[in-house]
Amino acid sequence: MRIKPSIEHAAHIDSLPWQEILANTVRDTESLCQLLEIDRHSLPDNHPLLQQFPVRVPSPYLDRIRKGDPGDPLLLQVFPDAAEAAEVPGYVADPLLESESNPIPGILHKYEGRVLLVATSSCAIHCRYCFRRHFPYSDNHSGKQGWKESLEYIRADSSIREIIFSGGDPLTLPDSYLAWFLDELDSIRHVIRIRFHTRLPIMIPQRITTALCKLLANSRFQTILVIHSNHAQELDEEVDMACRKLKSSGVTLLNQSVLLRGINDNVPVLAELSERLFSAGILPYYLHLMDPVFGAAHFNVDTTEATKLMGKLQSVLPGYLVPKLVREEPGQPSKTSML
Ligand SMILES: *Cc1c(COP(=O)(O)O)cnc(C)c1O
Ligand code: SF4
Repeated sequence: MRIKPSIEHAAHIDSLPWQEILANTVRDTESLCQLLEIDRHSLPDNHPLLQQFPVRVPSPYLDRIRKGDPGDPLLLQVFPDAAEAAEVPGYVADPLLESESNPIPGILHKYEGRVLLVATSSCAIHCRYCFRRHFPYSDNHSGKQGWKESLEYIRADSSIREIIFSGGDPLTLPDSYLAWFLDELDSIRHVIRIRFHTRLPIMIPQRITTALCKLLANSRFQTILVIHSNHAQELDEEVDMACRKLKSSGVTLLNQSVLLRGINDNVPVLAELSERLFSAGILPYYLHLMDPVFGAAHFNVDTTEATKLMGKLQSVLPGYLVPKLVREEPGQPSKTSML
């Protein structure tokens, strides 16, 4: 079943360029409810939490949500539940204390050998559990001048072997920006790998254009795309096609998920996700315990329950399809493995 994302785009969604799909995301709860024929209590769109982090859903993802089902696992990831406003002890705006590992604006250098670049603040989708929902992006977004400073930082530290483009979602940037950045990095010989943390191959598979694939295939770097998918229902034939293009350009595809209450906190759903990812050529990498970010407590699965789930998951999947259960703890030299 296909849902009309908006009246003017209904028929031509497959042939639209990705920029147009990105520019025409659903941006308010009322439209979301109308398009999906659901009637459910939510935060009002003028609530401060929604002003700061509004609803955002791109049409290819919207098409995969079942109409009339308020419990749909894809809907729950984007629906601003009234529970977001609840004050829960321990749930804070900056749970990872990222503001402390920011050597210069736009760079997070927490782990040995790799730096994470906050390449953009924008995303194609707003995931309600996202730990970046309160991130002070304006301090981290200074355009090309800021990027030049980032490049100098990378050039000056020969221990850096891998650059992770993150955000926001780095694939919301136009190819010309990515090409410029890769070109600049080309002369920094100690950098050998480029990684993208992105939901775009899932959210807007049309983003994986031939031009982008050429750009990645022609660079001297080994390239890794760490996709973020939480449920098998997020993958369809268009996603398969995008992944095939990436793979034939020599890109390694991995997936990270977040363990989310009511969405993927059971063995059959997690097993199906791993199987479905592999059929698209993607290997499961991390399953994250959610960061305790303000507004997302209702998604939390506690450690005891999570480790139990993992034990059972291991007994139904081949080893290479079992993601590593991790949590991020401030001040640690890597993600903390829970098993
Ligand atoms: C998660 C993360 C990385 C990447 O960690 P890997 O274990 O290599 O996937 C790098 N930098 C920061 C700041 C991170 O949060
Ligand atoms: S795409 Fe990633 S960074 Fe953007 S809102 Fe979702 S989880 Fe957060």
